[in-house]
Amino acid sequence: MSDYDYDLFVIGAGSGGTRAARVSASYGAKVAVAEEYRVGGTCVIRGCVPKKMLVYGSHFSEDLEDGKNFGWTWDNAQFDWVTLRDKILADVDRLNNAYTDTLKNHDVEILLERAEIAGPHEVKLASGKIVTAKYILIATGAWPDVPEFPGSEYMSTSNEMFHLDKLPETVIISGGGYIANEFAGIFNGLGSEVTVVNRSDVILRGYDESLRDRLLQIALTKGIMYKFNCTFDKIEKREDGSLDVYMDGKTRPVQADVVLAATGRRPKIDGLGLENAGVKINEKDAIIVDDYSRTNVENIYAVGDVTDRVQLTPVAIREGQAFADTVFGDNPRTVDYQCIPSAVFSQPPIASVGLTEGEARNQYGNIKVYSSDFRAMRNVFADRHERSLYKMIVEHQSGKILGLHMIGPDAPEILQAAAIAVKAGLTKQAFDDTVALHPSMAEELVLFK
Ligand SMILES: Cc1cc2nc3c(=O)[nH]c(=O)nc-3n(C[C@H](O)[C@H](O)[C@H](O)COP(=O)(O)OP(=O)(O)OC[C@H]3O[C@@H](n4cnc5c(N)ncnc54)[C@H](O)[C@@H]3O)c2cc1C
Repeated sequence: MSDYDYDLFVIGAGSGGTRAARVSASYGAKVAVAEEYRVGGTCVIRGCVPKKMLVYGSHFSEDLEDGKNFGWTWDNAQFDWVTLRDKILADVDRLNNAYTDTLKNHDVEILLERAEIAGPHEVKLASGKIVTAKYILIATGAWPDVPEFPGSEYMSTSNEMFHLDKLPETVIISGGGYIANEFAGIFNGLGSEVTVVNRSDVILRGYDESLRDRLLQIALTKGIMYKFNCTFDKIEKREDGSLDVYMDGKTRPVQADVVLAATGRRPKIDGLGLENAGVKINEKDAIIVDDYSRTNVENIYAVGDVTDRVQLTPVAIREGQAFADTVFGDNPRTVDYQCIPSAVFSQPPIASVGLTEGEARNQYGNIKVYSSDFRAMRNVFADRHERSLYKMIVEHQSGKILGLHMIGPDAPEILQAAAIAVKAGLTKQAFDDTVALHPSMAEELVLFK
């Protein structure tokens, strides 16, 4: 008999927590997981998945337009926000049930309530009950960081965007990261007037500069407006619920139905009781962990966004898996953070793996950059003047590919496969040796000159 109620208590049933709980239980551990909102976490409930559905939904406006050149006509095409929203929310319910079933099928006990740490081996539940566990895993994710200024409480976050009562006519988006640019594309595609307001003059920091420039150019052509080096002064709410947004010291406000704060996500540690066990955090509120996701307290671990290593779902899942393998699977494992592919589901999307041109120049000095700047066949046919850009960054001496960056239709779908080659350390020659698959956009990857 164990001295504890559970072998493992997981706080947060998101991407990382669910994987860790399920796999630990499959190794024979007695596991419970506490979830204060909905099983599945950010990705499934109010992140990647519903966002991607909105991207699909919004892209039909262009597809319908392009269809005319392919011989199709539509009479009076209409979009209904509530239909799309409710279909997405129903799909979220389906996934929520699927995640719940998976945990139950692995004998993981689910406690649908908030939990906080009460001591190194103790967890206090919202109901007041205290349970004990040999190991505690913190997998509480991250939370939108809303700037503070008069009226900023009227801003929405990505959490609320999936539940809007109606399609906003005007949307102002604060931020320049991937969430800001994705929602800009979504609402622009659905017919809203969109302005992205950024306090610097850079969008998508961390992505290759040529791709960021290309997205900006295309987004402007599509009608998305950008305000750079611009700050918010205050927001006032009108009687009809719309918002007066004051920016940059100007006395005249800009009117908006929705103002979205997409200004970053902070580790979710508020009220988590970390101090009760002495768990250390860094200056960005991230829980400090070692390569095995162990905190400074021997039996307390943390995975996913709350550790602010790489805030992506597949990374949280890998960290959860590695935790379970290490602690309960007798197979100590760390996560390899090199060459993690990532995407921005803007319109068109961006996908990237490895070093940007700037990073490669700084690290290697002598590099070669190959690029292909082309119009996808479909866009040519549709009279859509939207050019794709693929870039391959190669180490001069060895020919090894250091980075691959793409903007264009289906870029994330194409890049996932190419990322295997980059991760495996292949050279450009290996790409050149591969016969093109024609006609495709992806063939540009093996035709770089
Ligand atoms: C709009 C948006 C779009 C995104 N798009 C992508 C994408 O396209 N691709 C991608 O890879 N990533 C994307 N992400 C990021 C991705 O969702 C996260 O990286 C991922 O969900 C992190 O997993 P996690 O397990 O760390 O945390 P989460 O999935 O956030 O899970 C944490 C869970 O803990 C619960 N919780 C928190 N505190 C407590 C507590 N005290 N007690 C009980 N429960 C608690 C929360 O309710 C939540 O369910 C997106 C995020 C957002 C917001």
